[in-house]
Amino acid sequence: MTESRPDPAPHPITGQLFRSPVPPGSGWPQDPATPATAVAKDGRDVQRIAVACTEVAEVDAAVSVCRACPRLVQWREDVARTRRAAFADQPYWGRPVPGFGAQQPRVLVVGLAPAAHGANRTGRMFTGDRSGEWLYAALYRAGFADRERTEHAGDGLTLHQMRIVAPVRCAPPQNAPTAQEKATCAPWLDRELAFAAPGLRSILALGQIGWTTTLAAARRGGWSVPRPRPAFGHAAQALLATPDGSPVRLVGSYHVSQQNTFTGRLTERMLDAAIALL
Ligand code: SF4
Repeated sequence: MTESRPDPAPHPITGQLFRSPVPPGSGWPQDPATPATAVAKDGRDVQRIAVACTEVAEVDAAVSVCRACPRLVQWREDVARTRRAAFADQPYWGRPVPGFGAQQPRVLVVGLAPAAHGANRTGRMFTGDRSGEWLYAALYRAGFADRERTEHAGDGLTLHQMRIVAPVRCAPPQNAPTAQEKATCAPWLDRELAFAAPGLRSILALGQIGWTTTLAAARRGGWSVPRPRPAFGHAAQALLATPDGSPVRLVGSYHVSQQNTFTGRLTERMLDAAIALL
């Protein structure tokens, strides 16, 4: 039997009707964009618009309407229209996912990319899938999040002195962005890192890609980064310095993907131990 996919469909918290993907500025909780937000259509646009942003809220807005990677735009929007049966009655965000949390954080979390039926559905980093359940429960235990469970944007979740970002902002097929897609998306992360630098004390890199991407972004931004490049590992640490010389501790953690949490490669205790280093 074919599941119906109502379009528009009601947001699970607010009840407001949305088409999938969600039009910018149409009322989705915490949508940073408006219909007038400039849309990046290729890598040069991403670079130009990111550099022109004067505050992190502008980066959030510009990221959330970006269309620079044709394969990812097609994929994220196809997923939003077809949806998983379990979420057939919900609208899907279907747009790039902006950073979430404090605008001037003490701690930055760097993940990989949105999940097709998680953040690509809810519009918020790590929200709506098992990876997010693990991460936010751990952040709650450590005092960074004000609640243990969260399922949808608009539920009031607040992060204390923490911001979550990703090297790639669109859900990729098989969770595997290409090298070119990572390079195209990099200026968004570079700009966020620059805005976060004053007052930043530590960065949690989730997985090898989060680790290497953070080191590369820091180097591009004029930070001091150890050579040779520090090796990734769970609870690995490296000391970086912002362009003004302020120290920032980089901490590695195995990613909170189900591949790691289901198999026991990453346990709650291990994740708590890595977060305790921040
Ligand atoms: Fe834009 Fe990044 Fe999404 Fe590519 S992955 S379309 S650069 S937001």
